[in-house]
Amino acid sequence: MKRICSRCRATFEWPVTFLPEGKSLSSCLDETEKRFIRSHYADCICLDCLLHIKETFYSFDIPENYQHKK
Ligand SMILES: [Zn+2]
Repeated sequence: MKRICSRCRATFEWPVTFLPEGKSLSSCLDETEKRFIRSHYADCICLDCLLHIKETFYSFDIPENYQHKK
């Protein structure tokens, strides 16, 4: 099924069936990341964007309620 990425507007196949190292998408993201994505993007986002968010998620200042509890 074709979906439009909410973040970069690219068309991609959903569900994503291939991931590096055979991991499932949900296992690549922790709960905080998933919560962030769900609240910021109305629909699915593509694998590139997911991986980009994962790579950069903790590199930027993000709202306090998304940060890991110290
Ligand atoms: Zn995208």
